[in-house]
Amino acid sequence: MIYLFSALGLFVILDSLWGYFRTKNKKRYLIRLSIGLPLVIVLLFLFGPFFVLSPIKIGYSTLKDNNITLYYSGNSIDMAKDTMDQLKQANDMNRQFYKTAYSMPVVLAKSGFDMLRFGSYPYSGGTGNELTINIRAGRMTAGKIAHEMSHRNLAMLTDKSIPAPNWFNEGLASYIGKMDEYRKPNELQVDLREGRYVKDILDMRGVLGAAKWIKKINVDKAGGVLYGQTYLMVKYLFDKYGQDKMYDFVASLKSNDFEKAFFQSFGLTEEQFHEEFMNYIQNYKGETVP
Ligand SMILES: [Zn+2]
Repeated sequence: MIYLFSALGLFVILDSLWGYFRTKNKKRYLIRLSIGLPLVIVLLFLFGPFFVLSPIKIGYSTLKDNNITLYYSGNSIDMAKDTMDQLKQANDMNRQFYKTAYSMPVVLAKSGFDMLRFGSYPYSGGTGNELTINIRAGRMTAGKIAHEMSHRNLAMLTDKSIPAPNWFNEGLASYIGKMDEYRKPNELQVDLREGRYVKDILDMRGVLGAAKWIKKINVDKAGGVLYGQTYLMVKYLFDKYGQDKMYDFVASLKSNDFEKAFFQSFGLTEEQFHEEFMNYIQNYKGETVP
């Protein structure tokens, strides 16, 4: 989100400079800019991706419960109450791991267009980042909401906009949301055998990592294996090292970068861990696929 913020800011500055050097009547341009620029910023807050930060939310009402603040469209109080019940469950699932309940602003979007203008992928049921959770009315389970909440909680706990590579951030979110529906180990074994397993999973990191992730889902249609695989990768870590150690590792991301913290906590590199995980999947002998 902070990157979207910066990109928008940079674009506006460059565009203004470009306009300034091109225009003949520089004084008039500056006057128009000084009116136009604040207007654009106000619109971004009132109707755009910074809606959740805006003190005025036109057409939206507020429902509060402890750390959760839900913004919903004024005429859908029943939907908002149902959603609040799910939010509370999802919040508890997160608290079990994160120990603290960070403030949790949630926007209940009415449509795909709402999602888009709030800075989220329009076809998804929900997204989460360091600023807010955006969810579509009636499209989410408590588990999926818990997944989105984990994205904000991890950012809050570590004080970082991108605290971890995608595989860990998404896998941890799915683990907290108990989202085992995408892949069981025996199913991932079949993916590995038939070449669908995402072998370059560790490469998806940083700002570009998000773009690669979205491409994998939408172009390569590999969403199921991505979420299933990363869920199982993180579950493997939890099963092997236990929740306390996992919490300490995540907390150490606040002052260390991911690779260093990973090695310090588990005594092996991400690559070594990934090898170990693939071996586990390859040799898995639990229930077989019918
Ligand atoms: Zn996610």
